[in-house]
Amino acid sequence: MEWSVPIGTVRGTVIRLHLTFLLFLGWIGVSHYAQGGVQAALSGIVFIVLLFVCVLLHELGHVFAARRYGIQTPDVTLLPIGGVAQLERIPEKPSEELVVALAGPAVNLVIALALTLILGGLPSPESGTQVQNPAVSLLGRLAWVNVTLAVFNLIPAFPMDGGRVLRAMLAYRLGYGRATKIAAGVGQAVAFALGLAGLFGNPMLLFIALFVYMGASAEASAVDVRERSRTLTVSDAAVTRFEVLSPTSSVEEAVEHLLRTSQHDFPVVDGGGRMRGVLTRDDMIRALRERGPDAPVLEVMRRDIPVVDEGRPLEEALRLMQAGTLPAVGIVARGGRLVGLVTPENVGELMMVQAARPTPRSAPPPAPPAPPGDSRFVNPWAR
Ligand SMILES: [Zn+2]
Repeated sequence: MEWSVPIGTVRGTVIRLHLTFLLFLGWIGVSHYAQGGVQAALSGIVFIVLLFVCVLLHELGHVFAARRYGIQTPDVTLLPIGGVAQLERIPEKPSEELVVALAGPAVNLVIALALTLILGGLPSPESGTQVQNPAVSLLGRLAWVNVTLAVFNLIPAFPMDGGRVLRAMLAYRLGYGRATKIAAGVGQAVAFALGLAGLFGNPMLLFIALFVYMGASAEASAVDVRERSRTLTVSDAAVTRFEVLSPTSSVEEAVEHLLRTSQHDFPVVDGGGRMRGVLTRDDMIRALRERGPDAPVLEVMRRDIPVVDEGRPLEEALRLMQAGTLPAVGIVARGGRLVGLVTPENVGELMMVQAARPTPRSAPPPAPPAPPGDSRFVNPWAR
């Protein structure tokens, strides 16, 4: 995310602070100073910092739950409206998504419980209604804010955790696509209600409404693209005109191909038309450096390139490309002859063309994995 600075790393996950968060802290300091001097400004800032430690712990709840299913989280960003944990992917099984989504709010409930125990009883209701009032116990206010965080995040609407809980529960019966559409629709309705409340009351709600609306729309369109990809076959997306290398080619010959064409990944195809592997531009550069121009392509190419039969759903190739970082997937005709290549670039172009067309009406078959851009756990907080 742009405009953010790394402030630390927790077990391989980089914690980033968005610069607008520092502006927000400054604003809190100044507005409190105007009301009650240095003392009030300091206590306001301390409260917000502690609040954000709770938001961070909430995000780490998602991060560690996801790790249980082998999903890493490269970074967590803290924004004035909450935290965003960028997961590599969303778990495929509804049961796993449920656990990952619930882990965040669960952390806040545990913090609230711990604070209640420290305080030796339930904090007074004023600490819940006057969270910015420095005269009220700091720990009491923090306990209530954690309850609010948990409840707010469990609103069953995207992009809140509750939206994911709702989708996971619907996905058991309806499949991922329809479940997402319903959860996103609920999200937009909630955004509308929040926006209306914001117009007549707290303007902060308008801001949150906008955020919820955008999150729900993004989720719906990501799933839309996925559904479109299901109505297409690998042949629709394949590049069919491309240069190939023979198993006896040297790296030098490959470099000549590279310079002569606009292609940068070359399938190595034998006399029977079968693909033996793919030589990428990076492979060529590495081979030139380590082995010299005479190295046979057969020894330096990538061998882990899967093939899909022509006519299969495009989704199958997308899933393969997503699972490994593959430069391409081979498309083969009956008998195993290579007839096309699907690459991340040409799928991207195809999706842009498709997005301009109306939505297909057919009901989608069940549960594909989410694309990487979909994997967001978002956690706005309300005041
Ligand atoms: Zn969350």
